[in-house]
Amino acid sequence: MTTVRPIAQDRLPALLRAMPKAELHMHIEGSLEPELIFALAQRNAVSLPYASVEELRRAYAFTNLQSFLDIYYAGASVLLKEQDFYDMAWAYLERAAADNVIHCEMFFDPQTHTARGVDVKVVIDGLHRACVDAKSKLGVSAALILCFLRHLSEQEAFETLEQALPYRDKFIGIGLDSSEVGHPPEKFAKVFARCRELGFHLVAHAGEEGPPAYVWSALDVLKVERIDHGVQSSKDAALMKRLAQDKIPLTVCPLSNLKLCVFPDLSNHNLGALLDAGLVATVNSDDPAYFGGYMNENFTQTFAATGLSAQQAWQLAANSFNGSFIDASAKKAYVDRLNATFETFA
Ligand SMILES: [Zn+2]
Repeated sequence: MTTVRPIAQDRLPALLRAMPKAELHMHIEGSLEPELIFALAQRNAVSLPYASVEELRRAYAFTNLQSFLDIYYAGASVLLKEQDFYDMAWAYLERAAADNVIHCEMFFDPQTHTARGVDVKVVIDGLHRACVDAKSKLGVSAALILCFLRHLSEQEAFETLEQALPYRDKFIGIGLDSSEVGHPPEKFAKVFARCRELGFHLVAHAGEEGPPAYVWSALDVLKVERIDHGVQSSKDAALMKRLAQDKIPLTVCPLSNLKLCVFPDLSNHNLGALLDAGLVATVNSDDPAYFGGYMNENFTQTFAATGLSAQQAWQLAANSFNGSFIDASAKKAYVDRLNATFETFA
């Protein structure tokens, strides 16, 4: 571990913004800002159940995961053509670049679109084209992770996988998202085993609202390489030990946890405790258009509320690169860039 030289507390927010970082937990449909939802609705002649951008934004007062998901699916209904998916991803990638996110692995939910009659090819081609352009135009490396919706059946996940396989060179991994409680990871054991045989990287949401048992089964049944969220793991000492020993990255999303009432207040967030226990925790924005902030907002608000240090900032950013699915030489190059930024603040 690199020891960071002391940095004046008042310079910490600037350092958090300037440091290069990777984002490993961001649902591209959750980056749709109300303005873009309305613009796409007009372009595609889709009618929305909200009269204005302001009315839609006011509906973003969630009480739990389900109340958010209901609005999230309504927002996604404006996405019909390849260019729509490109425009959505591009808007996120520009914001990511502005936050010094230099690598991202973004989730997409094909079933949200195929259920509306949109071909999976349209979805993947649009998103992938934005990822390619991000490298050349923004200097951001970007990759896609296809997620199955866990409130649907395993059979439907198998069908989605079959539809997407012709485009498998355009996504690197498989994830599991949507309503967690009542839909444990083991519901998807067979389809994850198949994805593993096919050579995909595997991740799953677990331990956001669901119990530590879901994190255990994501690890032992689905055999995932990363846990998305995982904040409930701190309720299980044996699980904490396992996550630390096996260096399983947790993609923690503080503002999402706040907005969905997983923690009553950011100052109660357990990010610091996860780091102290030696876990490979990272900071991410989850659904940034809905949860009140992109990467740098997640970093600056969480650090302000919890009093985390510059050393922990370095650790979180280093974890984001080391927990990503890029190769070892790319990880090293990114951590070198991180160290260079910290040098300028010392
Ligand atoms: Zn998520």
